Amino acid sequence: MAKNKTRAAKKKKKKKGSSKLYEVRHSPIHGYGVFAQKKIKKGVRVIEYKGERISQAEADARYNDVDNEHAHIVLFAVDDDTVIDGKSKGNDGRYVNHSCDPNCEAVNYDGRIWIYSLRKIEKGEELFYDYSLELDEEFDKEHSHLYACHCGAKNCRGVMLAASD
Ligand SMILES: [Zn+2]
Repeated sequence: MAKNKTRAAKKKKKKKGSSKLYEVRHSPIHGYGVFAQKKIKKGVRVIEYKGERISQAEADARYNDVDNEHAHIVLFAVDDDTVIDGKSKGNDGRYVNHSCDPNCEAVNYDGRIWIYSLRKIEKGEELFYDYSLELDEEFDKEHSHLYACHCGAKNCRGVMLAASD
């Protein structure tokens, strides 16, 4: 019995140590970030954006304070009526930062949000996707400074908001 136990423990340890694609640590861009812990191929499902699923109205009620710097950054709109609140029951997905020249993309599969690699990512690279936040127009104008982008990409839009065209 003791033998079996040892074997099981070893197996578990190996899985934990070698299979994780990413780690969360401080980002030079913003707060915490998610970094590749090993080389990630293009088209890999890296992480799911998890959190409590709430209505748009509930999201507005929770984050109506414009002084809250992270107001819309923790929210992921699934459709017109459903929002994932990464701050509530969320996972590491909420730490993936925005970039205007991202190496990942967020894909909606039947209402679940997955972050996929857009290209090959080297070990140690920070993972990003383009938030393309869509906010209420009036809110946009008055508070777009809350969504300033410092990603440093050549094509940086200066804000994490969706490109307006
Ligand atoms: Zn940018």
